[in-house]
Amino acid sequence: MKMSAVDVARLRTAILNLLFPPRCVGCKKRGAWFCAACLAVVPRIVPPLCCCCGEPLERPGARPGDLCYNCRREPLQIDGIRSVALFEGPLRQAVHHLKYTGQRDLASSLGSLLAEYWRGNRLPANALVPVPLHASRQRERGYNQASLLAQELAAATGLPVIEGCLVRARQTASQMTLKRLERKVNVREAFACVDDRLAGRQVLLLDDVCTTGATLEACAIACRQAGARSVWALTLAREK
Ligand SMILES: [Zn+2]
Ligand SMILES: [Zn+2]
Repeated sequence: MKMSAVDVARLRTAILNLLFPPRCVGCKKRGAWFCAACLAVVPRIVPPLCCCCGEPLERPGARPGDLCYNCRREPLQIDGIRSVALFEGPLRQAVHHLKYTGQRDLASSLGSLLAEYWRGNRLPANALVPVPLHASRQRERGYNQASLLAQELAAATGLPVIEGCLVRARQTASQMTLKRLERKVNVREAFACVDDRLAGRQVLLLDDVCTTGATLEACAIACRQAGARSVWALTLAREK
């Protein structure tokens, strides 16, 4: 029997969990990295949303198809962005552990949130493309968290993951401390496609967190230049 990368990761997790019982990032209970009770209360984003960037619209009377203030002023160059949940509480802790403390086992719990989203909301896609890290950052971390999430969604949907085509050509300053416009300038031309595997594809970019959409927009521009037919993005979390 041939095992997929996700199967191998699950087996590895099962063995490690026996040796070192995990504790939930939310409630600290033993038994799982992100327990079912904490997963259930992650604040899912629900309509009405901006039809482009996916930001929840709080104004009264907002309807599907409406644009938010930022998208009306300056439309994003991506077909659409959607996010599963708000970046707060245990989800924020979980993403932090996935990225910075090497807890790659969290990817399967977090992937279950993406799969749940997909069951209720299909986006136009026939290829999953994780937002790449710069090669030096990936070496340092040992993995790309966006790629782990893409593999989980691929296992749930059967969509192929295409990696190594979209690359981060330039190391960028951390987006955390930058303002909206600075973020756009910071990531502009940071991404490029190095082969033609995305030509004619309906690309779905995958990432852990969306803040202003500037990174996803820069990726979308590179995918379009490589001939992608459409580019949407799905992120696990969204900064408020
Ligand atoms: Zn918990
Ligand atoms: Zn918007």
